[in-house]
Amino acid sequence: MGKRPYNLYAGPAILPQEVLREAQKNLLDIGDSGLSLLETSHRSALYDEINSSANHDLRDLLGIPENYHVLFLQGGASLQFAMIPMNFLQGGTADYIHTGEWAGKAVKEAKLFGTVKIAGTSEDKNYSYVPKTLSLTPDARYVHLCSNETIGGIRFNRFPETGDVPLIADMSSEICSRRIEVSKFDLIYAGAQKNLGPAGVTLVIISDRMLARAPANLPTMLKYGTHAEKDSNYNTPPVFSIYIVGLVLKWLKNLGGIAAMEEINNRKAALLYDLFDGSKFYRGTAAREDRSIMNVTFRLPSEDLEKKFISEAKAAGFVGLKGHRSVGGCRASIYNAFPLEGVEALVGFMKKFEAANR
Ligand SMILES: *Cc1c(COP(=O)(O)O)cnc(C)c1O
Repeated sequence: MGKRPYNLYAGPAILPQEVLREAQKNLLDIGDSGLSLLETSHRSALYDEINSSANHDLRDLLGIPENYHVLFLQGGASLQFAMIPMNFLQGGTADYIHTGEWAGKAVKEAKLFGTVKIAGTSEDKNYSYVPKTLSLTPDARYVHLCSNETIGGIRFNRFPETGDVPLIADMSSEICSRRIEVSKFDLIYAGAQKNLGPAGVTLVIISDRMLARAPANLPTMLKYGTHAEKDSNYNTPPVFSIYIVGLVLKWLKNLGGIAAMEEINNRKAALLYDLFDGSKFYRGTAAREDRSIMNVTFRLPSEDLEKKFISEAKAAGFVGLKGHRSVGGCRASIYNAFPLEGVEALVGFMKKFEAANR
């Protein structure tokens, strides 16, 4: 392999190179079976082991309590936007915190199933911060938030106290990047392709009490209970995606777990934010106290300079720095697998670019 570019794409995103090599090594013959996992039954002992160890390792890493299920589903985080209200809204009222594009898409789907109250929003400032005061509905079916907005580059540092009302979070772009207290939530979901593995599998962590609230008369595939009862093996799961997620989780464990990962992530993000804070050239777009450590969003003095920056960065070996098409600007997605030395190299490039174009 030649020198690979530094991959700053928002998703699908960088995977640990060790994981890619391991998968390559096993592609034609997994577990001495003589077969590829791609051509192996999802009812085999081999796949059982892959499924259960991914489940077990995730429980270990995140400290998931016994009274929660870990599910590997399909349809992406986008299907969760609809599946959650389909299972739990049922004509009632739910509170949604509207912090950007992804939270907004969740709102849109929920409206099909009941009353949505916007408990807080940062729309007034182009979703560049997390609203601190919320108006919560006492008897809401649940409160929904997006813990890290991939496009705006903001994240919740503190989660709202919702009392007995279940809290639900879309953690697609930050799952396993920092310590979280799972018991504060009744449902956590995340598309895998940002921080956990390849596209095709979506993680759901759901409490027993939440599961018990879903009605029976739902389509089988769209009922969480179906997948909980069958250990995510009701129908054919995306076995290869789940296998890669398993390898990523082992990689995380070897690195020292979530706390160790979080420390590295904080250092990585600080390198970029320190650069912005000491510069009149680069301007971070997220409110300082709500800055994401996964998706770092910024602007240059003009759109022309941004174009030039993105193209020269690419030539220098940094790909994926273009901001989301809905907001423009630049974004560096520095997920778990993005190395510290990659951020150091990027900061070095950015300083040179500033000096040449100031
Ligand atoms: C990428 C992303 C999604 C959409 O995920 P799909 O798997 O494409 O449906 C939803 N929420 C957040 C926060 C994301 O980053």
